[in-house]
Amino acid sequence: MAASFKDRTAPAKQLPDFDLVLFGGTGDLAMRKLLPALFRRFLAGQFPARARIVSVARTSIGRDDYLAQVEESSKKYLPAGLDATRWTAFSRSLDYMGLDATNVLDYQKLAAKLGSQPAAVRVFFLSTAPALFEIICRHLAAAQLVTPGARVVLEKPLGQDRASAEHINESVGAIFPERQIYRIDHYLGKEAVQNLLALRFGNSLFEPLWRRGRIRHVQITVAEELGVEGRGAFYDQTGALRDMVQNHLLQLLCIMAMEPPVSNHPDAVRDEKIKVLRALKPLAGDDVGANVVRGQYRAGAVAGAPVVGYLEEQGIGPDSVTETYVALRAHIDTWRWAGVPFYLRTGKRLQEQMADIVIHFEDVPHSIFERVPSATANRLLISLQPRDSITLTILAKNPGETMRLRPVDLRLDMAESVKTPQLDAYERLLTDVIKGNLTLFMRRDELDAAWRWIDPIREAWLQSDDRPKSYTAGSWGPAAASSLIGKDGYAWHGEV
Ligand code: NAP
Repeated sequence: MAASFKDRTAPAKQLPDFDLVLFGGTGDLAMRKLLPALFRRFLAGQFPARARIVSVARTSIGRDDYLAQVEESSKKYLPAGLDATRWTAFSRSLDYMGLDATNVLDYQKLAAKLGSQPAAVRVFFLSTAPALFEIICRHLAAAQLVTPGARVVLEKPLGQDRASAEHINESVGAIFPERQIYRIDHYLGKEAVQNLLALRFGNSLFEPLWRRGRIRHVQITVAEELGVEGRGAFYDQTGALRDMVQNHLLQLLCIMAMEPPVSNHPDAVRDEKIKVLRALKPLAGDDVGANVVRGQYRAGAVAGAPVVGYLEEQGIGPDSVTETYVALRAHIDTWRWAGVPFYLRTGKRLQEQMADIVIHFEDVPHSIFERVPSATANRLLISLQPRDSITLTILAKNPGETMRLRPVDLRLDMAESVKTPQLDAYERLLTDVIKGNLTLFMRRDELDAAWRWIDPIREAWLQSDDRPKSYTAGSWGPAAASSLIGKDGYAWHGEV
């Protein structure tokens, strides 16, 4: 039985007093994710008496109208619905202010609203286009709003390449010290990713196996059924490599492959993650063709419904070569991982929505049983989406007279086993920002190392006359991606 939403009211540690200024407070992310996440933390009893959220955007509307908008959209995005009394209590801490981020004078009004008694913690969440980050930070500083307890939260995309990311880092870093900058990769806030850390560093069982010689290969997949969903103009400038691989997939790779940190101190964890990024074997020039497949979906059907191809989506030019799919083979040049391929894949309009990490262990060196043709045995599947679960597939005896083996699953479904509702990624990340815990946020050098690895792949594509490989919407991606892994003797999870 699923745990009820009320379970969330189980006492959670109260947050310190805070002011949270939400830039982009009328936008999609704020309405769909951030404000519902804050409401949930309010329901969990984590809000201190002195908690204040001030949403800002250019739209000129009064507070009441804004609250009505947030209430309307929160109803849609809160699965358990919205309790009117609790909502009213929450909305007392929510305010709205018209502010043009580019207008320095508006920040004086913001300063006046926040008053001369700043809360211990002041969060500026920049849920706006990154082009505004620099000017927002400068104007915040000019209005003397950057107090020692201030934090700035930056949403992706953090740059289009290494140079533009560096520009953002420089300009934000000129105002906020690194310890006050929270770069979001919401994948790191997912409960399942935390669980991967728990699995790896809370148990002695897997540690001896977590290495070359024991692990044969690893797959990391983030597959979407969705297409560009009205964000064609943005997506066409970005593509799957920069939208997904540079951040989410590389972060998952880091958590999967990093050495045990000496503690769970944010820098201890991030120091280990960056070593993985720095040890990634560079892919450039001809290596890109041999190790990376890019694809673009054509018309097909997803979940039984016909969908148009990428080039027919609104906002996409007929000759676009933007990739909606990437599959690649990476190697980490360390003692632990030398020779172990890591296959990463992501795409839009794929057959299923899923995010998972699959670890294939080596076969036994000598089998005394009849061989079982199984690509799934000796496998640990860590599923992040659609359900947070861990499945260890082992070989067991097939019931009956003969001694034959077959794969069986030992499955831990977190929602069923733990019975406590899980925190949404943004709930965790927002509370971590308020608490001042940087562990799940990307450090500047991490971001730089990720771009340093990604940029040459894009450069190779820019030099090439090849178009992305076409794949039918609703399939698992281009045939070339199956060949990429197939040539090594493996198959993608889900395609088996
Ligand atoms: P959006 O729906 O376009 O919202 C943008 C917000 O910025 C609006 O509230 C807009 O309000 C405000 N804004 C724009 N120009 C402004 C200005 N000069 N001064 C003050 N406010 C301004 O975008 P979004 O989808 O919420 O995304 C926000 C950021 O998060 C983007 O960088 C996006 O890439 C990133 N992100 C979004 C998602 C998502 O699921 N939506 C996921 C990950 C990352 P006004 O027009 O009223 O000013």
